[in-house]
Amino acid sequence: MKRYAQVFQGTAFTSKSPKEVDCLREHLFCINEEGIIERVVAPEAADYQAILDDYRDEPNFQRLTQGQFILPGFIDLHVHAPQWAQAGTALDVPLYDWLHTHTFPLESKFSDLEFAQEVYDDLVSALLANGTTTALYFATVHKESSLLLARICASKGQRGLVGKVVMDDPEQNPEYYRDADTRTALEDTEQFIIEVKRLAESVKQGVYPVVTPRFIPSCTDEALKGLGELAAKHDTHIQSHCSESDWAHGYVQERLGKHDAFALHDFGLLREKSVMAHCNFLDEADAALFAETGTAISHCPISNAYFANSVIPIARWLDKGVDIGLGSDISGGFSPSLFDNARQAVISSRMLEDGVNPALPAKQRGVPASRILINEAFYLATAGGGESLSLPIGRLAEGFAWDAQMIDTALPGGKLPIFDANEDLHDIFQKIMYLSRPEHIREVWVQGEKVHSRA
Ligand SMILES: [Zn+2]
Repeated sequence: MKRYAQVFQGTAFTSKSPKEVDCLREHLFCINEEGIIERVVAPEAADYQAILDDYRDEPNFQRLTQGQFILPGFIDLHVHAPQWAQAGTALDVPLYDWLHTHTFPLESKFSDLEFAQEVYDDLVSALLANGTTTALYFATVHKESSLLLARICASKGQRGLVGKVVMDDPEQNPEYYRDADTRTALEDTEQFIIEVKRLAESVKQGVYPVVTPRFIPSCTDEALKGLGELAAKHDTHIQSHCSESDWAHGYVQERLGKHDAFALHDFGLLREKSVMAHCNFLDEADAALFAETGTAISHCPISNAYFANSVIPIARWLDKGVDIGLGSDISGGFSPSLFDNARQAVISSRMLEDGVNPALPAKQRGVPASRILINEAFYLATAGGGESLSLPIGRLAEGFAWDAQMIDTALPGGKLPIFDANEDLHDIFQKIMYLSRPEHIREVWVQGEKVHSRA
């Protein structure tokens, strides 16, 4: 019989489509040396019992106990790593002020590698403890501390996609926090790409360089064009912000005479591996361009409630076939948990559908057909994130990485309200999605390696 590196037996949940969750009762998950799910075996399968008999007494076999369930690890498509140091604060000012009075002064401190080490180390551990197995990070303009973040992801076992941020326009960025000039911004970015690729050669779960113009307002045309060329030359991921707020959306329209989506496309920044944060003010043509180029939306529902002046019609763009995942947007969003963000995604969509101003008649209050359900929010946090990054992650299926989190619903002192041993599995799934706290996440794996344990 084939030798697997690990075999797990238990009940798991994974997305079949944006609207459908597969409840895999008492399946076997057979993981190979590379940390890939080689087989998912249902109890009805002919060799289920044979595999079980072969492995049940082996040290590499793990049977989940009563009340334990497996979910795919979460994929956070938008994290500003340095802003972890201000999470939960400064949420009462508009985006422009938030950047200039709080965020840029904080980010400028990451020239100090010791400070960067302290914050990044803590953040990566916190995200793993929240079940986030892959994260797409903005670091800062500093090449060295951005590299440090990639190294910390590598050593803690998280799949990190990391960008050295480019903000080179002297008109738009403070002197204390920007690239020295456009040429330096591009040279540092290319050097960063090369060094992260070198680092990746010895990292099992992968670590990836990401071309990262902060957003159009902070970059010169020359830098944006140069970054598009670098991404094509080195075949990297790209991330930025797109049409986030009234101010940001209006600024680009005024400067370039078009929406962010078309401007980014003209600079070569929309491609299969591109992920754009927020995207609240996309119109139909922008969304069609996203679908056509394979560009993904990183939906950041908590952050959007504070800074985006609107609720993005996520159901509409899902229907259009745009790739969409979920982002915490630390620290525009205060929570490092994609459970929290999945809940907010559902809540915001309900408020968009019904509307929020009780002074208006019901028929004029909202936008019909805007709601998403928790199944779709779960999809965004897992499979949708994987598709957005064009990586085989986010599903518990053959050929995907064993990136997983084990939820214990029977935790002493934190039991979820499950009173029937035969409760419908989809009800249990919903309880997990709505009620889990970090303490329920008992074990987390990335690429087959255990990276977090509360046991
Ligand atoms: Zn952001």
